Amino acid sequence: MFDYLDKSKIPLLAETDLLVVGAGSAGCCAALAARETGTERVMLVERYGFLGGTSTQMLDTFYGFFTPGARPLKVAGGIPDRVVDRLDAAGAVFLRPNTYGAGTGVNYNPERLKLVWDEMLAAAGVRVLLHATLVDVDMTGGRLSGVVIATKRGFFRIAAQRFVDASGDADVCHLAGIPYEKAGDLEPAQTLTTTFRMSNVDLATYESSGGKKLLMARMAEAVERGTHALPRKAGSLHRMNAAGCISTVAVRVAEVDATDFEQLTAAEMEGRRQAFAYEAFFRDCVPGFAESNIVGLSHQIGVRETRRVFGEYRLTRDDCLRVARFDDTVLLCGAPIEDHRDAKDGGEETVWAYVPNSDAYDVPYRTLVPRGRDEIWVVGRCFSATHDAHASCRSMAQTMSMGQAAGVAAALSLHDSGGAREVGIRALQDRLRALGAVLAPPTSPAHTAADAWRANR
Ligand SMILES: Cc1cc2nc3c(=O)[nH]c(=O)nc-3n(C[C@H](O)[C@H](O)[C@H](O)COP(=O)(O)OP(=O)(O)OC[C@H]3O[C@@H](n4cnc5c(N)ncnc54)[C@H](O)[C@@H]3O)c2cc1C
Repeated sequence: MFDYLDKSKIPLLAETDLLVVGAGSAGCCAALAARETGTERVMLVERYGFLGGTSTQMLDTFYGFFTPGARPLKVAGGIPDRVVDRLDAAGAVFLRPNTYGAGTGVNYNPERLKLVWDEMLAAAGVRVLLHATLVDVDMTGGRLSGVVIATKRGFFRIAAQRFVDASGDADVCHLAGIPYEKAGDLEPAQTLTTTFRMSNVDLATYESSGGKKLLMARMAEAVERGTHALPRKAGSLHRMNAAGCISTVAVRVAEVDATDFEQLTAAEMEGRRQAFAYEAFFRDCVPGFAESNIVGLSHQIGVRETRRVFGEYRLTRDDCLRVARFDDTVLLCGAPIEDHRDAKDGGEETVWAYVPNSDAYDVPYRTLVPRGRDEIWVVGRCFSATHDAHASCRSMAQTMSMGQAAGVAAALSLHDSGGAREVGIRALQDRLRALGAVLAPPTSPAHTAADAWRANR
């Protein structure tokens, strides 16, 4: 892609069977699933110094395990369950309802999750490279054959037989010339959010004074009266896995192309400015927060969408809302479409559309296969979906499940010496079920998410 790099001079670091780029929730699960399905050599490349991507750098709640509503279904399983089990064994998990009724979330300690990812990948025998950024690709006869990574020791090449693009931004596909739609090309791109955590919050006082209802009223007042420079009238907070601590999704930065480092620089700074405006607002206006302060900002501003690759199939809004069924389903999703918008024109800030009857639609395997390609899969934030379908199918239970499906598919394709489009769907689904993946909605709903969790294990 970059012809100013003379790749013949770059040393070869390694040859591998499967190379996964990006160690977010999707990439980690892809690497784990491929090893578990028998792939000998699996490498995972990550630009930051820890695993987990968005799951550890800014969030603390897995959504998408359960459908919303009074009778929740548990619609994700397998490796994602094991991640939660590990967190649970360390006492670092609790279930909590979503602020907007979008289903029960699995709240965890994100710092513990960094260790859990480390331990799971090490135990599985995945070769992990941290502080290694993908900067270019090698193409041989029109086929992706390797990548170039930049490290403090210089540039290195890694050759691989198969690839999973789990970079969130579809960096591998972009460099390999694989077509995609960019967020913002058609519909406005979803807004960006710096999450922040506050300590020393008196949660009992907050709840007894009105909790969420009071918070919303005070936010609206602050915006209308102009007392605090908040970007919007809404925003959520929830208690964390540590006493007296809360985490927020409140900051909103709009109209950013997050693949452009200059726009991203401005967005990072604006996100921090807004976070501290919120801190002042909380301290001044919300009961229970007088002595609180920010103790952590997200490692980087949260990016909801950038590039969405064109796959063998593109999941659509209609698929989500008509509860589509596909023969090649590899995961389920019951999460609502949740579109975070810029409300500067007075429109709605977050637009919701729920899957009917608290059901879950199928996500076909073909959404993970870039159109016409056989050596690469695309998972997580950059899988093949329209803006609206992506706004539903991006919760972490689903991104982990996508990784799981692609990892198994890659292993089968290596084993059979076939391409991504030739993977036998029956065999893939059998392997996924054997891992514990949920490929059909449970027939009897549970009374609570906790019951659903137990019933489906
Ligand atoms: C503000 C915000 C709030 C959200 N809230 C929730 C929530 O509460 N619950 C929920 O379930 N979901 C939530 N989501 C959605 C969900 O978190 C994401 O869709 C999901 O985590 C994406 O996972 P991923 O693995 O595809 O991508 P990421 O987690 O973004 O992982 C991509 C990884 O690739 C690495 N990478 C990128 N480029 C390169 C490169 N060139 N070289 C090497 N490494 C690279 C990154 O560092 C990162 O580790 C939220 C998203 C945002 C932004």
